[in-house]
Amino acid sequence: MQENRHILVVEDELDLAELLRYNLNISGHNTEVVHTGQGALSAVAQKQPDLIILDVMLPEIDGIEVATRLKADPNTAGIPIIFLTAKSADEDQIRGLDAGADDYVTKPFSVKVLLARVDATLRRTAKDSGSSNILELGAVMLDTDRHEAKVDGSSIRLTLTEFRLLATLMAGPNRVLSRRGLISNAIGPGITVTERTIDVHIAAIRKKLGEHGSMIQTVRGVGYRIVEPEA
Ligand code: CA
Repeated sequence: MQENRHILVVEDELDLAELLRYNLNISGHNTEVVHTGQGALSAVAQKQPDLIILDVMLPEIDGIEVATRLKADPNTAGIPIIFLTAKSADEDQIRGLDAGADDYVTKPFSVKVLLARVDATLRRTAKDSGSSNILELGAVMLDTDRHEAKVDGSSIRLTLTEFRLLATLMAGPNRVLSRRGLISNAIGPGITVTERTIDVHIAAIRKKLGEHGSMIQTVRGVGYRIVEPEA
């Protein structure tokens, strides 16, 4: 059911934020409003929302960065995100979707349209709830709570870094991640490792996945992505 869903609104325009809060609340949702990217990350850490409405243009940590960080963490990767973007530039929207947005709405928008998108997104993602600690793609399964990896039902041993890298890739199948993005997501922001280090870890993961190693594809000049194997 749609009622009593916890929705986080991240919007630095105060009037718009309040307008959204009002309309979401009268639609039966519980709405929390924050005005910064840092506020969004803190709010998610305190109470996981069922959906985030995320303005792209925020001071300091922008919406793309917030989404990238949330999608990189297996605990928050499953939270659906609808971006609000002021720009109609296609490039911006594509960047947003790459960062893991489930949908986006271009400003100015009608509140009615946004509410319809919210309900559609909640319906689409409802069936996934309750299994957010399990990432599964083809023959590969990761249990992020137990730090367990299985291929074709058999456990494989991954180092912590390999596990995090694979989880980061599996949190967004078909999404291309740059080496730099993988470093900051899987190893930690501000940690200095060369991009070559990522290549070495990826090679090790591919080897451990055996015949399924080809699910991890190199995207020349960009980075890596994981794809669902063809049946
Ligand atoms: Ca803004």
